[in-house]
Amino acid sequence: MDFSLSDEQEALYAGMLRVGREVIAPGAAERDLAGRWDPAVWKGLAAAGVPGMPIPEEYGGSGGSIIDCCLVNEALGEGGRDGGLGLSLGAHWVIGTVPIWLHGTEEQRQRWLPGLCDGSLIGSWASTEPEAGSDSGAIRTTAVRDGDDWVLNGTKTFITNGPIADVCTVLAKAPEGATAFIVDTRNPGFVVGRELDKLGCRSSPTAEIHLSDCRVRSADVLGEVGNALWKIAFECFDWERTVMLAGIVGGMRATLDTTIAYAKQREQFGKPIAHHQVIAHKLAQMEINYQVVRNAVYKAAWLKMVGREHMVEASVAKALAGTLSVDNALEAIQVHGGYGYLRDFPVERALRDAKLASLGGGTTEIQKMIISRSILA
Ligand SMILES: Cc1cc2nc3c(=O)[nH]c(=O)nc-3n(C[C@H](O)[C@H](O)[C@H](O)COP(=O)(O)OP(=O)(O)OC[C@H]3O[C@@H](n4cnc5c(N)ncnc54)[C@H](O)[C@@H]3O)c2cc1C
Repeated sequence: MDFSLSDEQEALYAGMLRVGREVIAPGAAERDLAGRWDPAVWKGLAAAGVPGMPIPEEYGGSGGSIIDCCLVNEALGEGGRDGGLGLSLGAHWVIGTVPIWLHGTEEQRQRWLPGLCDGSLIGSWASTEPEAGSDSGAIRTTAVRDGDDWVLNGTKTFITNGPIADVCTVLAKAPEGATAFIVDTRNPGFVVGRELDKLGCRSSPTAEIHLSDCRVRSADVLGEVGNALWKIAFECFDWERTVMLAGIVGGMRATLDTTIAYAKQREQFGKPIAHHQVIAHKLAQMEINYQVVRNAVYKAAWLKMVGREHMVEASVAKALAGTLSVDNALEAIQVHGGYGYLRDFPVERALRDAKLASLGGGTTEIQKMIISRSILA
């Protein structure tokens, strides 16, 4: 087994770590407090070629492999320490852009991918509804044929990038079954509703979307009519449980490094707190957790990249990340003592950001359902 990275991948990581530190990290605390998306940060990422990373060069992307995308996301998470930015980028990549690349017609790819890759367009995905969360098959949004068009009606919620997206792939129920539609968000029937005020990942805008007689062309159907749940949505979720998770791994590294540095300089009872064995063991456990999550994420990503079955491994990675990133953030606060409870230090933000990993893109309970069904079968 070869766990090594190529020289190019090492350089990619180092370069993206710098982008994270220089473009994302400044202002991350303020954006979190204000709950503010900053287009200037997005432009900075676009200048570094980030938005099109997973997409082939012929459509304006960088043609990065799945492992390359994980490395970029991990480095940005470590250097940038902005879970919201990671969420918006992840949604743009894995549920906004990749489905159009993988399932789009040539016309759809040519229309959307160049802009999504150069960052002039932002992507999004809308499957969740008020009554259809974990049970994505229970969607009620309807898609009804009208001549050569389709008319969409319904309400979506929790839509990452909802208020800023230029294109949104909407999952709706056609008579044949769940169908995905690529919707230009300037369509008058696509109405951005209430913006949702969140615990963490606050620099990423999240909104309700109302589809009100939203008319789209037959040419805007993504993939086959009636087959989108299995063919497109579940595949998206696997990308979320590999590539998107890598940003959380980077965040765990940053939180651990901050905590190690703090424990080495903070003195109590006449010595650095890192020299009290209880604290040293907390740091050791944080390192264990970090390595476990990182290995699980990269194993699932590698299986996906080489085309092997990876559903269980992706769920294992997601379940581990959801639990252990929160454990680490809580211990980071504990090691910082009262200061960890203040907004002056980044560890309280790390806790709020980390919590999303056990919810969005499939909860921990749903990951365990997937794993248990597989091992019991
Ligand atoms: C910040 C954020 C961003 C998001 N971005 C997007 C987006 O861009 N696009 C999109 O479509 N969606 C998005 N989502 C939605 C997300 O995928 C859902 O929140 C998630 O799938 C859970 O659905 P729910 O919130 O309705 O919870 P529910 O499904 O109502 O679950 C509530 C609780 O019940 C548990 N539960 C449910 N069913 C079972 C079961 N069978 N067995 C055991 N336990 C069960 C759950 O694990 C959970 O603990 C986002 C969510 C958040 C919070």
